[in-house]
Amino acid sequence: RTVLRELTGLIIINPNISPSEALPDTDPSVFHKRYLKMMRHLGEGHFGKVTLYLYDPANDGTGERVAVKALKQDNSQVLEGWKKEIEILKSLYHSNIVKYKGCCTELGGQAVQLIMEYLPLGSLRDYLPKRKLGVAQCLLFAQQICQGMVYLQSKRYVHRDLAARNVLVENDSLVKIGDFGLTKHIPEGEIYYRVREDGESPVYWYAIECLKENKFSFSSDIWSFGVTLYEILTRCETRLSPPNVCFDKMKEIKEEKNVMVLIKLLDTQWRLPRPKGCPHEVTSPLSTIDILLASGVARLFCNEFFPLNQQVGMLMEQCWAAEPAKRPSFGSLIEMFEAIRQ
Ligand code: ADP
Ligand code: MG
Repeated sequence: RTVLRELTGLIIINPNISPSEALPDTDPSVFHKRYLKMMRHLGEGHFGKVTLYLYDPANDGTGERVAVKALKQDNSQVLEGWKKEIEILKSLYHSNIVKYKGCCTELGGQAVQLIMEYLPLGSLRDYLPKRKLGVAQCLLFAQQICQGMVYLQSKRYVHRDLAARNVLVENDSLVKIGDFGLTKHIPEGEIYYRVREDGESPVYWYAIECLKENKFSFSSDIWSFGVTLYEILTRCETRLSPPNVCFDKMKEIKEEKNVMVLIKLLDTQWRLPRPKGCPHEVTSPLSTIDILLASGVARLFCNEFFPLNQQVGMLMEQCWAAEPAKRPSFGSLIEMFEAIRQ
């Protein structure tokens, strides 16, 4: 009763506060099953399934559209990882990372369902093949991915699954990183995370040290970013996808399709080819370009020395340096994209 009296007093002092505002009875991150109306299937990967729902508490069709991610099967092995994925997304807040909205615990199964903002254009894999995207727009997307990654690394996370299928498109000039299912935290003072996992790994996006020693680091995310950039520049054309191009190469050298052969190929310095419009012939030695790109000179002269496509090709290959320390950082990539896009 004292509380009520105080509350009444509060309303008299400030008539703009209504009792429902003074005492919020709903947690906006709690989504109730009864208000979720299924609209359509959005996509799925190895572990999760994502569905579009209308969250409509007023039940008049005015609700908001949300993307709901659920585990495909909720066995105890993947349950721990799933809880971590939700916790990680909940802790991230950046314009180039998909936004966490909340959870729904009543949707059936034992596991919680993750509610995120809905990105209407789907993943880059859905979006790119359908559009005739110019190089400038591709590079803007690439830069935004780097921006999200700088933020992720500032929180000491390695994403471990950077790929076009895990980058979501809000509109023609905004992309966001999604899918933190394989993301791991790197403790302060350490440089890599060692994982033991069977099968199902996105090996064609993995850096060589991930394949050989299961070592994941900020630098291995750079390698995967290089592969993602390759996908963007090939506009996610299936025939040119990283696995398909690797398979073609394995067939050409009459080898089987497996990780050992992939390691062998990468050890002999074989890399994904430069996408069309990114010619392989580089007239100057890489070191000169490294210096140019790394210095502020890039912004002034680089575009005159090298055609845009060559610059991007070189940049991609730098991400695939065998030695992790030789790869660029996301911060320096942003600078390079800015210079190139000018
Ligand atoms: P998995 O962990 O199983 O790979 P993802 O989180 O990558 O699951 O989601 C699978 C697919 O669902 C994505 O590739 C994308 O096509 C679609 N998707 C995921 N999240 C969203 C979203 N927020 N808005 C729209 N589509 C999405
Ligand atoms: Mg995925």
